[in-house]
This record gives sequence, C-alpha cells and structure tokens, in this order.
Amino acid sequence: MSGADLAARWRSARVAPLGLHLDSAACSRPSNATLDAVADHARHEAAAGGYVAAEAAAPVLHAGRAAVAHLVGMDAADVVFTTGSNHALDLLLSSWPQPRSLACLPGEFGPNLAIMAANGFEVRALPVDEIGRVRPDRAEHLLRTDPPALVHLTALASHRGIAQPAARIAELCRAYRVPLVIDAAQALGHLDCAVGADAVYSSSRKWLAGPRGVGVLAIRPELAERLCPRLPPPDWPVARTLRVLDRLAHGEANIAARVGFSVAVGEHLAAGPAAVRARLAEVGRQTHAVLAQVPGWRVVEPPDEPTAITTLEPTAGADPAAVRRTLIERGIVTTAAEPARAPFELRTPVLRLSPHIDTTTAELEQFAAALADVTAALR
Ligand SMILES: *Cc1c(COP(=O)(O)O)cnc(C)c1O
Repeated sequence: MSGADLAARWRSARVAPLGLHLDSAACSRPSNATLDAVADHARHEAAAGGYVAAEAAAPVLHAGRAAVAHLVGMDAADVVFTTGSNHALDLLLSSWPQPRSLACLPGEFGPNLAIMAANGFEVRALPVDEIGRVRPDRAEHLLRTDPPALVHLTALASHRGIAQPAARIAELCRAYRVPLVIDAAQALGHLDCAVGADAVYSSSRKWLAGPRGVGVLAIRPELAERLCPRLPPPDWPVARTLRVLDRLAHGEANIAARVGFSVAVGEHLAAGPAAVRARLAEVGRQTHAVLAQVPGWRVVEPPDEPTAITTLEPTAGADPAAVRRTLIERGIVTTAAEPARAPFELRTPVLRLSPHIDTTTAELEQFAAALADVTAALR
C-alpha cells in the first residue's frame, strides 16, 4: 500500500479530529474498531459478569500478546500486559537480582531515572554524540572493560526524535553477554523493535493508538528465569508453581482496555509495520522541512532523521508551554516538553510535534503558519 493509501485508511478508520492532532507521542487517536471493542467488552461484562467475560476474551488477549511478540521478535508467552511503560519498567527492575547496576543514555526519560533510583540501581551513562545518539564504538569499550548488570536503551526518546542504533547495541550486548532492556514507549509501531533485546516494554496509547492505561512487557525466557518477582514472596510455595511472567501479571485489570489494545495492534499488523514505519519516517522528514523556516524556532533533529517526532527549540525567547496552550485554543494539539523529561540532556523546554501517518504536508504548512502567528502574538 502506498503512503497515501495507508494515510487515507488510517484517517477513515477513526472519528474526525477537532483540528490538527500532532500529538501521537503523547496519545494517538484510537480507531473506531478499537473503541467498539472496548465498549463491547464492557457491555459483555455487564451482561455475563466480569470474570466470565474475561474468560471469553482470552483468545483476543492472546492474539494481542502474539501481535506484540511479533513486533519485538518473541513469543506470545513472553508478553504480559501492564498499565503502561513505567509500570513495566518498575516490574522488571523490582524483580532484578543483585547486583543492581545499569548503563543508559544521558538523555534518559526522567520518570525512568526515578524508577531506576527507587529500585536501588547504580546508573551510569552510555557514551553519546552531540545530539544524544549512542556511540557503539565507545559503548563497546564500556561493555568490555566495566560491564553493568544490564543496558537500558530508550530506542526513541520522548523529548527528541533521534532513532537510536538499537540493533547494533543489541549485537554488542549479546557479544558481551550483558542483558539489553529496551524502552519502546515511543519506538513500538514506529521503529523496528525486533532487534534481539532481552526485554522490551511499551505503552498502548502512543504510536499503536490503543486505549490509555495499558502497556506491555516482553521478556525472553532466559532472562525471565533469572528474575525474582517481589510478589508472591519468592519463598512461598505458590511462587514456585507459577511461571515468572504469570507472577508479573497483575490480577485486576481493565480487560476492556486490553481488548481494545489487542485490536489496535492487530490493525497495525494488518496495515503492515514496515509500511507504517516508512510512512512515519516520511512524515517526519516533511515536518523537519516545513518547520525549518519558522522564525524564532530551531528544529533539533537532523533533516533526514527517520522518526515522526520533531522538537522545536525556541531561539528568541518563546515559552513552549504558553505556545502549546494558545495552539490548543486554535484546535492544534502538540506537547511542551520540560527539562524534567530528560533532566541530563534537555536544557530548555521544547515544543514537540508528533504527527501520525495521516498528516498531510498541507496540514504541516497550516501548523507552521499558526505557530509563526502565535509566536509573534505572544511576544
Ligand atoms: C511515555 C513514555 C514512557 C512512560 O510511559 P507510560 O505508559 O506513561 O508509563 C516511558 N518512556 C518513554 C520514552 C516515553 O515516551
């Protein structure tokens, strides 16, 4: 399917946006099929009872886990649902055996750093270039001379649309036998995540356009066997009768949202993950080109960076939070990212655009004009 066909299908599968939705890195627009699946499951719960309905939904949920597994190169049995990416990381790190040390990007996501610290991890920085992309040659030196217990790679950040060389880092981690954990909150459904990592986690609501409040954690069996989940307590007999992944799966959940996510990820597979990735890269390049000329802002990403996350740094004192608020009044949704999102890399707040595959060049031009206007009006 061509990029234009893919875009037309994506747009016709959901309600019309109120204005310009350029905020998929925060929360995409779910399809009507996804929303119907959520509502249908909730209705089935009301009719049949929540637990009976959950049993009936087991095949759909299995298909959702299998679809995620396909995207990360694992098996359905290696995937558990969570409530989001942060929850997935906390589950994984709170189950990690001693010693607890890791290497991650200096531009690591702030809330991830908090979870690492709360779980007692000693954290060191992976070597990066001037835009924050990891340098595999230097990373190899670190893995050879002073390996951490794991490498945590955020394959695509929230505050900057730089695609990390995840496949190359996975290769190095395998060579030095250091487990690799990938934060794919922004990468799943956006970049290739089947790179051979030992664990991958992500969120439903971002590029896969599932419902909010759902996430996934995928762990290879060899790593899962080494983990010690906190609950149930490892010395209780029941703990020995359950697989590690079943111990990580939380009992009570919004099953309707998981059903909706399973439909959304199924739609993604049907559209063709490689075609979606190519189209997102194309939309990203168009965004960089259109926004290169807006006075008072600088595009942070290199022009050819193959991601649909574009960030704009103010060069003449604009306040991204104020600009975002004013744009919303005009029906345009973007994100203002504060330095807390990446406390060791982001020096000033930025305005983030994250269009999905249906965004046209004309809409990007409409956005650029609105941004120029709002920037001038707020001065
Ligand atoms: C959004 C995001 C998270 C957190 O995801 P939640 O589902 O909100 O917990 C983690 N890492 C990155 C890179 C993100 O963009």
